[in-house]
Amino acid sequence: MSLVVTGALLDGREVGVRVDDGVIADVGPDVISLGDDAVIDGRGTAVVPGMVNAHTHAAMTLFRSFGDDLPLMTWLRTKIWPAEAKLEPADVYWGTRLACIEMIRSGTTRFVDMYWHPAEAARAVADAGLRAILAAPLFDSGEPAAKRALEEDALRSLAELAPFAHAGRVVAALAPHAVYTVSPGSLEWIGATAAEHDVGVHTHLAETRKEVDDCVAATGMRPCELLDRCGLLGPKTVVAHGCWLEADELDLLAERGTTVATAPVSNMKLAVGRQFPYGEASAAGVPLGLGTDGSSSNNSLDMFSDVKVFALAQKFAADDPALLPAAEALAVARGQRSSWLGGSSVTIGAPADFVLVRVGSPEVVPGDLDANLVYAANGSVVDTTVVAGKVLMTGRHIDGVDDVLDEARGRAARLTR
Ligand SMILES: [Zn+2]
Repeated sequence: MSLVVTGALLDGREVGVRVDDGVIADVGPDVISLGDDAVIDGRGTAVVPGMVNAHTHAAMTLFRSFGDDLPLMTWLRTKIWPAEAKLEPADVYWGTRLACIEMIRSGTTRFVDMYWHPAEAARAVADAGLRAILAAPLFDSGEPAAKRALEEDALRSLAELAPFAHAGRVVAALAPHAVYTVSPGSLEWIGATAAEHDVGVHTHLAETRKEVDDCVAATGMRPCELLDRCGLLGPKTVVAHGCWLEADELDLLAERGTTVATAPVSNMKLAVGRQFPYGEASAAGVPLGLGTDGSSSNNSLDMFSDVKVFALAQKFAADDPALLPAAEALAVARGQRSSWLGGSSVTIGAPADFVLVRVGSPEVVPGDLDANLVYAANGSVVDTTVVAGKVLMTGRHIDGVDDVLDEARGRAARLTR
């Protein structure tokens, strides 16, 4: 059975969209529904590509608003790490389900995640219907026992994610947390293992000046160069933040085809001191994405909110209102400026990952839709979310929301007690 969306606007004209086997089979003014099609009446909406959240820690929804307004290390040491010590695998399942609901409601169709118990996150993604690149965060102190434990954790995570990866919507990766929490020896092992298993890499990079200074003091190299020496920079790598990257590092990332996921809301909330140098990165040809970061450092997963902050923060930092026009900011947020992020488009042959936004919502009337989606709207304009041809929300209704909210509330209360 096909799914057909009728009467939606695409680039200003009314079209139908036919979906077969999770792929857009046809799109255009002549596409109509036939007898046994499942039909979504798209009148009053525009069909647009879904958002791709390029950096998050989904299950941290359970820690939303837990320890706000604290310096980073105080927050980690006194709040997050003690709470995470109590984390059970099922907490990650329900925290990720909560995150998926928030993402579906705000038009995100795919996300890049780094969190504990990734097989539970995979189960949640499978049940929720989204797509995700998933990985366990890897840490070690450089001690031989810690290095062995990291290797076991990494291999176990790949084995646990493999069955979900075979099912199609989940992609496995390895996620060394950062250069300041993983020893160079382990970074090298992760680089070789990612290559051997042909999986992606997801890490934090150049988030703070201290990270850069400490890395130079310890290794004589800046973090980007260290990652490259360890074989971690390639076209299947996503590095989050990148606030303190310099011009030669941007050239290196462009050469390697490595994606930078900028996370401006998290960076400003944690006051890291500098915006990601978007203008220079874009000019250098670095693949780019936009991430929210986790719910405890944002505290929202609404990419429509973050794309506005992204555009405004970049204009402000560069003293240039012409930098990063709305359509380009949307392309970054939709994952269309990185082949690894797999941003979709509403075209024949593309994966059926799209959303319908209500064009009658007051905040998108009147004017240019792209500009309104960036500067005026938030995720509440999303009416319908479709991933791999499956309708995850329509009329803003998602099945089973109350059960997820109840479970998440109870688990968050236990963890943050
Ligand atoms: Zn992060």
